[in-house]
Amino acid sequence: MSAHQTRWLDQIKTANSAYQARIVPGKLPVERAPGPAVITCMDPRVNLEAIGIPAFAGDGAGASPVRIIRTLGAMADSRSLLAGIFLAGFREIVLLVHTDCGCRLAYARIDVIVENMQNRLSPAAFQAFRADIGEPFAEKLRTYLKAFQDPRAAVEREIDSIRRLPFVPDDLILHGLLYELETGRVEVVVNGYE
Ligand SMILES: [Zn+2]
Repeated sequence: MSAHQTRWLDQIKTANSAYQARIVPGKLPVERAPGPAVITCMDPRVNLEAIGIPAFAGDGAGASPVRIIRTLGAMADSRSLLAGIFLAGFREIVLLVHTDCGCRLAYARIDVIVENMQNRLSPAAFQAFRADIGEPFAEKLRTYLKAFQDPRAAVEREIDSIRRLPFVPDDLILHGLLYELETGRVEVVVNGYE
C-alpha cells in the first residue's frame, strides 16, 4: 500500500513539473466567478463534457464558472450546498445521477461492505461505528450511504431531500438529470423550471 502511494506521489510531482512548464500563468483562473453548480457522482466515468462543461485547455485556460460537487451517487452534501448558496451564490443546481452507479452496487452488495469493514477495522472500531449507525445495521448503513436501487427514483428523492433542507431557499432552481454511461445520453428527470 505505502509503496503504491509513494509511486503515485512521485508521478504527481513529475506531472506537476510538466504542468508548470506547459501552462501560461496569465491564463490561469485566479478571479472568482459566480456560477451555478452541478452535483454529480465521484465515479470517474462521468464526463461533464456531456453537459457542456469542458476540460481545461493545455495552457491552463478555459475554466468553467460551474461549481462541481462530486460525491458518492451525486447525493447532496449540506456543507457544500450551504456555502454554495450563501457565499458562492448558487441560484440553480443540476443533480446529475448516472447509470451503473456505485450507490446501486452498494445497495445490492451491502453485505460485502459490512464484511469488508469487519475484516479491515479492529473489532472495537467496527462495534463503535455499528453502534453509531444503529440496528438493523445493514439497512441503516444503506440509508447512511443514500444507496439506491433505481437511479431515476434516486434523482427525484434527492431533489425532494434538498428542497426539505431547512436552509434551502424557495427560489433555488433544482434540476435532476440521468446520465447513461453506455451512450452518453442525458435525460431530464426533473425540470426545475416547471
Ligand atoms: Zn456513481
